[in-house]
Amino acid sequence: VDRAEVVAMDEADELTQLRQHFSIPEDGPIYLDGNSLGPPPSAVGAAVIHALDEWRLRLVGGWEEWIDLPTKIGDRLGRLLGAAPGQVLVCDSTTINLYKVVAAALETGTDRGEIVADAGDFPTDRYVLQGLSRSTGRRLRLLHDPTSDEVIDALGSDTALVCLSHVDFRTGRRLDGARICQAARDAGTLTIWDLAHSAGAVPLELDDWGADLAVGCTYKYLNAGPGAPGFVYVRRDLQDLLGQPIWGWFGQARQFEMGENYEPAPGITSFLAGTPGLIGLRAVEAALGVTDQVGVGALWAKSVRLTELLLDRVDERLVPLGAKVVTPRQPDQRGSHVSISHPKARPWCRTLIEQRLVVGDFRPPDIFRLGPAPLYTRFVDCFDAVEEMARTLEAGIDETAPSGRVT
Ligand SMILES: *Cc1c(COP(=O)(O)O)cnc(C)c1O
Repeated sequence: VDRAEVVAMDEADELTQLRQHFSIPEDGPIYLDGNSLGPPPSAVGAAVIHALDEWRLRLVGGWEEWIDLPTKIGDRLGRLLGAAPGQVLVCDSTTINLYKVVAAALETGTDRGEIVADAGDFPTDRYVLQGLSRSTGRRLRLLHDPTSDEVIDALGSDTALVCLSHVDFRTGRRLDGARICQAARDAGTLTIWDLAHSAGAVPLELDDWGADLAVGCTYKYLNAGPGAPGFVYVRRDLQDLLGQPIWGWFGQARQFEMGENYEPAPGITSFLAGTPGLIGLRAVEAALGVTDQVGVGALWAKSVRLTELLLDRVDERLVPLGAKVVTPRQPDQRGSHVSISHPKARPWCRTLIEQRLVVGDFRPPDIFRLGPAPLYTRFVDCFDAVEEMARTLEAGIDETAPSGRVT
């Protein structure tokens, strides 16, 4: 393909106009890091301002409505996850929600001795599992970048739970949720999914899979803003069986009677802990409004075309310069990002950021991630980004220059 053809692809695409919702500066670098932090939709800015007004005008009386927002917005987010109402909360962070569901599974869900997880999973997931394996006396069995079949082979009669990222943050490989959940059921074990790199990007069918528990965040493909609340999914028939470990007043039955002893509220509400943040919740609500304009099916279809174009350009321009594609080639085995490995990935990525050309990100040891997001990334952005990457590498990279960046 040449650039003119790619420009024509944007002109012919109905989703191109969704970019208007984001006011992305046209003279800025090409942003391919929405899988780390999505940019702000204008509607989120407006919703945050509106939330400040709600607070000012309603003061404490606002809680009459605000108290239901974690479940109400959770139901709405649940539609993107393939979850029927009453099973999703928007609250806390991914890390805290993961802690709640893993602890609930281990303390009240099973007597079995082993946790199956991925040694290469996102750090917070590994750390939460390390901590809970120690405090609950369970063995942590770590697989190395497993395929779906390798996960299934690892499940046995002593597996308490299997906890995995659906889409791997480093390589972009996607596991087969339906098949792993079926195998887990057959083995009598619980499934916990981290959907941080899936929610808002790839189609999800948690109810149909028969998934047990899931968590994720709203600031990557869902664009609700840095530190916006995460979400937690608990399958309906587990809600009253599993007790979560943080006994807070928002998870208490008859909260405002302020009774002496903790007694969990029925249903998904028991997975709340403390006071939810109004401003973040309104941001999530507004961000979902943007995604809901097209639905995740259309977004995923575009994501496949974006990542295919990226792969095509990487093969043509970057593979001859020593890059290797690490993301699976089959669309149903990847998420919405493309990762390449290169010995100079770290300084290469940093140079592109510092020269304000392309914002992607580096992940140790040698991964350069490119995350197009179908709500605002154009085909031409993918084309131009790879050209800039090639030119930068061809020009030579100063590997010794210090980096001021934290992430
Ligand atoms: C981004 C991400 C997180 C983030 O967790 P926070 O609690 O929001 O910091 C967790 N897990 C995975 C797999 C992620 O990609």
